Amino acid sequence: MKNLFSDVETFKEALQTEVSAQFGRDFEDAYPEERYLALTSLIRNQLGYSWKATKKSVAEHHTKQLYYFSMEFLLGRLMTSNLMNMGVYDVVRQGMKELGMELHDLEILEADAGLGNGGLGRLAACFLDSLASLNLAGNGNCIRYRYGLFKQEIVNDQQVEKPDCWLRLGNVWEVWKPQHAVQVKFGGTLDAYMDQYGKFHSTYHPDFVVKAVPYDMPVVGYHTLTTNTLRLWDAQVDEESVQADNLNHYLNAVSALTANVYPDDSTNEGKELRLKQEYFFVCAGIDQIIRSHLRINPSLDNLSDEVAIQLNDTHPVLVIPELMRVLMDDYNYNWDDAWNIVTHTVAYTNHTIMSEALERWPQDLMRNLLPRLYMIIEEIERRFRWEVDRAGMGYRFGEMSILKDNQVHMANLAIVGSHSVNGVAKIHSEILVNDVLSAFAALYPDRFNNKTNGITHRRWLVYANPQLTDLLKEYIGDSFIRHPDDLRKLERYVDDSELQKKFFEVKRQRKQILADYVKETLNIDVNVDSMFDVQCKRLHAYKRQLMNIMHIMYLYLRMKQDPNFRIQPTTYFFSAKAAPGYKLAKEIIKLIVKVSNRINSDPQVSQYIKVVFIPNYSVSIAEMLTNAADVSEQISTAGKEASGTGNMKFMMNGALTLGTLDGANVEIVEQVGYENAKIFGLKVDQIEAIKRDNSYDVWRIYNSNPKLRMVIDSLTNCTWSENPNEFQLIFNDLMLHRDEFFVLADFDAYLMAHNEVAGWYADKPAWARAMLMNIARSGYFSSDRTIREYAEEIWGLDEVKFTEKQFKEFELSKEDYLLASEPLEV
Ligand SMILES: *Cc1c(COP(=O)(O)O)cnc(C)c1O
Repeated sequence: MKNLFSDVETFKEALQTEVSAQFGRDFEDAYPEERYLALTSLIRNQLGYSWKATKKSVAEHHTKQLYYFSMEFLLGRLMTSNLMNMGVYDVVRQGMKELGMELHDLEILEADAGLGNGGLGRLAACFLDSLASLNLAGNGNCIRYRYGLFKQEIVNDQQVEKPDCWLRLGNVWEVWKPQHAVQVKFGGTLDAYMDQYGKFHSTYHPDFVVKAVPYDMPVVGYHTLTTNTLRLWDAQVDEESVQADNLNHYLNAVSALTANVYPDDSTNEGKELRLKQEYFFVCAGIDQIIRSHLRINPSLDNLSDEVAIQLNDTHPVLVIPELMRVLMDDYNYNWDDAWNIVTHTVAYTNHTIMSEALERWPQDLMRNLLPRLYMIIEEIERRFRWEVDRAGMGYRFGEMSILKDNQVHMANLAIVGSHSVNGVAKIHSEILVNDVLSAFAALYPDRFNNKTNGITHRRWLVYANPQLTDLLKEYIGDSFIRHPDDLRKLERYVDDSELQKKFFEVKRQRKQILADYVKETLNIDVNVDSMFDVQCKRLHAYKRQLMNIMHIMYLYLRMKQDPNFRIQPTTYFFSAKAAPGYKLAKEIIKLIVKVSNRINSDPQVSQYIKVVFIPNYSVSIAEMLTNAADVSEQISTAGKEASGTGNMKFMMNGALTLGTLDGANVEIVEQVGYENAKIFGLKVDQIEAIKRDNSYDVWRIYNSNPKLRMVIDSLTNCTWSENPNEFQLIFNDLMLHRDEFFVLADFDAYLMAHNEVAGWYADKPAWARAMLMNIARSGYFSSDRTIREYAEEIWGLDEVKFTEKQFKEFELSKEDYLLASEPLEV
């Protein structure tokens, strides 16, 4: 194996050769795009060696593999994180410098791979990084959407959706595998009969057949050989299956299947195309798993010894009936044996308890689109009913049944067909067991567990915040890159005034980078000495961006009334996409933008407050916002945010959490202590009690709270817009639809919390100490910890094995590798 990145000279020569070979030009004459494409092909090719070694080792040792089935992978840019994980970043940066350019100028040419909506997709991406870095064989399975989630622009103060053409320069990381294409069949009819032995036979006449063609992307771990695969399926024409009379109709249907990500977050749209997408990547993924297994095993009997499948939410839950179908119809297993294999292989992660987000499909739609799978689901339901009766829980069957109200309840199917069901933060898992899924928890007590989410500290700290990383190294060495719990070593220095000074300097640099971006893209001047208060996440009523902007509206109105009322200078940042059909969310964006225009152009108030809405929230924007923040707004209605992961990114970069006791915020304060965060607002049990007594009265709050009244009135009295009806949906939501997410109820507590935070910020040593404590205690939220828990408690994975010789060949030391697999230090 030739390592083209072993030293600067070798690298420079290889890059120049690559540019000439690919584009017929000298490096000096090449366009930046050409240089980018050449550099990334070099990286991709180099990864081929460790990729091969990993695949070989896994096959040879029958290492158990995980397949993470997720509709979404929100990867972001990959070039630099690949270089860092390969351990060649410094060589490349130096080489590029000597060739007369900054690596950064190529980095920014890469489009974010935005194959997802938000937290759920980003979690999948963080998991891939941790799996490879912990030497676990874990692969992703998803769709190769030609367009990511939409690109958001703000036009006339409103969100406009533009296509997100992430494949503009192609996807340099992928490898096309046409030889592994799979047929996927939809609709049509099934001729079925039972033979004299009770064995089911069928001939399927589908009315729509497509070819699923895989594109594989290598996922490289940090300083190790382990290189896993993210498989993205593209839909292609199946030549044999086209009927001549409807060619155009067929071509359009094939093209639509993988055109784009469904832009829903926390709602379920229930569109047929979405169900088609779900079956498409499930069917193709299962086919590949079976074929790989049979290449090295005589049968599928031992599938669950060598394969674990994790369902990221219910979107891939058709894995359960599909695997049953293949085992029974194609490999002649009887029901019980097939069910045994399926339930030992599959595990399910629940991401939400909000009923509008729970996936349900009309039974007719499912039956028409997937006739054989529907039959199997009916049989699962029949046998499940029997099991529930036998367990003496028949009286609760209604809560748990899969088929009811003419719908297929996907979460219930997932729970019945899995050996593990997990929530994504402690409080969320508790609500599942005690409330939403309590019948299931009584029936299957051992099936339920918690796996608190995490983020890869390699991207969100080491890569996104090199300034802070360098400072940390200076004080505590670099062991935290391998063992994020070692961030705790920083605790020793939190009162060290020298460190505090240097930390403020780092924070200021990050704020300056964000301020420069804001100046360049939005032409807004931002004061980097003001407090940076950030809320960036999908726009949703339960996340309560509305409460945040209402607090800002209050500050403005007060300042206009009272020249003596002034606050700690603060810049409020928002960044959020709204689902295109979510009218209330879009109106909230409009309100934020209109308020920001008004405030930023007010000569007095703008000395104390600026409001910035950064368009097109994405991984790359998150990388800028989370480490420039002083305050992290995590203000969802208690009980509604399953975990949140944005909260962890902020914490790890030293921002203070201003939040409710919801999702992983609960564990964040558990780690840092109440003295190092600002928690406010109603708690889950209080909200439950208000709902139970039916005692929530928005008009009473409105009438008794003049501050709040002033803000609510301003929505309709032409303060922010000439049109008094401009914010009618918001007004109605709060005042006529009884404020489902308790914005009014928490408003006062939120104001007071802000006051306290502002006072705290003014006390520099106390503030620095709290920020440093947040960093020191953030190791728990590395997805390495999360993945270790999944691997040990759900998947049963062992590490990928490599030989001494392979380490030599890859110029890695075995010692280095072993370090990566040391158990967590507590
Ligand atoms: C982390 C992240 C999210 C999730 O943010 P939450 O605050 O947990 O909702 C969403 N989108 C992007 C781009 C992210 O990086």
